[in-house]
Amino acid sequence: MSSAKIIDGKDAAARLKAGVTEAVSALKAKHGLVPGLATVLVGEDPASQVYVRNKQKTATAAGMNSFQHDLPAETSEADLLKLVRELNEDPAVNGILVQLPVPKHIDPFKVITTLLPAKDVDGLHPESAGRLIAGGDALVPCTPLGCLMLLKDTLGDLTGKNAIVVGRSNLVGKPMAHLLLNENCTVTIAHSRTQDLPGLCRTADIVVAAVGKAEMVRGDWIKPGATVIDVGIVRVPAADGKTKLVGDVKFDEASQVAGAITPVPGGVGPMTIACLMVNTLKACCAQHGVTDVPLPLTLPPKTDA
Ligand code: NDP
Repeated sequence: MSSAKIIDGKDAAARLKAGVTEAVSALKAKHGLVPGLATVLVGEDPASQVYVRNKQKTATAAGMNSFQHDLPAETSEADLLKLVRELNEDPAVNGILVQLPVPKHIDPFKVITTLLPAKDVDGLHPESAGRLIAGGDALVPCTPLGCLMLLKDTLGDLTGKNAIVVGRSNLVGKPMAHLLLNENCTVTIAHSRTQDLPGLCRTADIVVAAVGKAEMVRGDWIKPGATVIDVGIVRVPAADGKTKLVGDVKFDEASQVAGAITPVPGGVGPMTIACLMVNTLKACCAQHGVTDVPLPLTLPPKTDA
């Protein structure tokens, strides 16, 4: 039995996507604009194929245009960069997502830095990262953006909270820490060389775990009443001989102590795609100088409460 409030990422993502769909139709009605998302997948990795299809389906369901580019695994770096430059120039494309990881012979940093920052809906370009750090308006990586929305939806104002982000990747940990700093949290960033991680976690009102190590964060690491956001997705063997997905947090323990916690699956994951839609809409509005369509930058309230 858990005592924590379970943060329902599916419900939150549905609310956010409804907000995006509404804004997309207002953009079309007022300005005749339809946001366009281009996805680029190199190779046949089954997990990446599923992610990319979901992104395309979600974009179409929100009323956006989706442009799909599936390239063979042996595509050269030069050819991929050429496609990215073409998409940069294409006025129908407002957001470009190159699904990572790319095959080993392609340098992902070259791909990311070839993207036009204005179309970088994954928020990975150094200019996007710099804008986030400098406090400017930025396209922010979708997963930490979704985590922040869940935190604000759960806790309201985050000012003065002690937050720990476990993990320092460019995709999740670092942007998460800067988003929390921008919300006036006092932020600790932990990583594989951190000493006394359990002790640091116990001081935190907010724990964001983005590590990729199954159930590493234990219940006795959590301060009573803290809010726990579990970004990790790890496939582990299940009792029935099959496999199952777990997070970085040992849910059955942590949910006894925390005030609120995200499950895996059904927590952060659904918010990531919903935030990609927000970023594509935001990029489209910025590229066309549209300021009179309200963007869903926070979660719309629950209507059934
Ligand atoms: P990375 O592998 O890029 O980064 C992992 C981070 O965890 C690194 O900073 C690493 O530290 C740190 N770390 C590793 N071991 C430890 C340890 N024992 N103690 C403390 N820190 C440790 O992963 P990502 O950030 O890309 O992803 C993290 C997890 O989130 C993965 O499970 C991934 O699948 C999941 N994910 C989920 C998404 C979603 O939509 N739900 C989206 C993106 C990711 P160091 O830097 O020192 O090596």
